Amino acid sequence: MSNCIFCKIAAGEIKSASVYEDEHVYAFKDINPQTPVHLLVIPKKHIASMNEMNAENSALVAKCLEAIPKIAKDLKLDGGYRVIANCGADAGQTVFHLHFHVLAGRPLGEKLV
Ligand code: 5GP
Ligand code: ZN
Repeated sequence: MSNCIFCKIAAGEIKSASVYEDEHVYAFKDINPQTPVHLLVIPKKHIASMNEMNAENSALVAKCLEAIPKIAKDLKLDGGYRVIANCGADAGQTVFHLHFHVLAGRPLGEKLV
């Protein structure tokens, strides 16, 4: 997607603080962290949101999820972490390139679920 900020970040066209990269996945620090550790894990290929996940691209989404425990180990997130994917307006999704927030670094307080 030519006009997608996370596609540009994954391609290195916009700078980001990288924490992990492989063939299919890119992970970087959120520009507006809500917790001491706030990462975004994205597929390099453009998928707009969870609503666009299907049998053709679900393996790429799985690659993102598989990366998360590797990142957690590398960054020593031994106290645990929370993974969130906002999908659509009611969830407050603002960037329409599928991403998983990884929040950690302090007790995360009240849970929604
Ligand atoms: P959403 O609200 O769509 O679930 O999450 C989008 C996230 O992307 C927000 O937490 C926001 O701070 C982050 N974000 C938006 N633009 C940029 C950017 O240019 N660089 C980085 N590193 N994070 C961004
Ligand atoms: Zn994109």
